[in-house]
Amino acid sequence: MKNRISWRVATVSSARWETASARTLVLDVPDWPGHLPGQHIDVRLTAEDGYTAQRSYSIASAWTPAPSATGAGSAGAPGTVELTIQRLDDGEVSPYLTDVVEPGDQIELRGPVGGWFVWREKQTAPVLLIAGGSGIVPLMAMIRARGEARGRQPFRLIYSVRTPEDAAYADELRLRVRENPGLDVHFVYTRKAPDGWPTPPKRIDVAAINSHGWPPDFQPDCYVCGPTSFVETAADILVALGHDPKRIRTERFGGA
Ligand SMILES: Cc1cc2nc3c(=O)[nH]c(=O)nc-3n(C[C@H](O)[C@H](O)[C@H](O)COP(=O)(O)OP(=O)(O)OC[C@H]3O[C@@H](n4cnc5c(N)ncnc54)[C@H](O)[C@@H]3O)c2cc1C
Repeated sequence: MKNRISWRVATVSSARWETASARTLVLDVPDWPGHLPGQHIDVRLTAEDGYTAQRSYSIASAWTPAPSATGAGSAGAPGTVELTIQRLDDGEVSPYLTDVVEPGDQIELRGPVGGWFVWREKQTAPVLLIAGGSGIVPLMAMIRARGEARGRQPFRLIYSVRTPEDAAYADELRLRVRENPGLDVHFVYTRKAPDGWPTPPKRIDVAAINSHGWPPDFQPDCYVCGPTSFVETAADILVALGHDPKRIRTERFGGA
């Protein structure tokens, strides 16, 4: 059996567009040890001349195969892992994963990686998820895991996107709000809001987190993910509002 630091060769079984520039790849991974929502994998691409490039991508799917008592999958089973990649036009790796890779292609990966930025079903506290752009990916894995486990922990998601068209998983989120009791979703639009939206486009701020998050007294577990500057802004607001820094978990995707 391979361990988490060994590279595995996964096969792309299908792909779908979540927005005009974000694509989900569904990967069949041999000997997958299972994962927890919030974990990521490392992807390695190797060119014909031997040049390699490596990047991290969060796992979007809940957990596979069915969770065991420890919350992870059964060791050694084949697994399906979904990634959602946001294309950065000047990027080295992401345009390849969004625009070139096709079903049947193989990709090297290792993982799952990460033990802090995870949500476990046994956590009973209310949860506040704050996503900036592609930072939604690991938070979606948490929402999916809670939905599949029929969890009753109250979940609130604040999801910052440039425009309504940039929101990944929008249909699924709408459906889950209807079908998964205790899940609330609020969007923050930074460039263009839908017609009739009560506030003009703006960046995430104290008012948004105060109105659509949990009061600090509720002692929520907070997860913040996205570009580095977004994460720092949102985490600073949470601390300023009185949230316990020990309950704020952050994942920085890089960039400015
Ligand atoms: C733990 C972890 C999990 C991640 N999960 C995901 C995921 O689920 N989906 C996803 O799309 N990405 C994710 N990322 C980001 C991903 O690893 C790459 O950084 C991203 O795809 C850009 O790679 P690239 O080779 O295309 O761009 P690069 O060639 O590395 O960079 C091109 C330009 O874009 C800037 N840049 C790099 N990363 C970002 C960013 N995240 N936001 C804005 N600007 C950036 C760089 O500074 C540079 O100017 C994750 C990163 C980490 C650390």
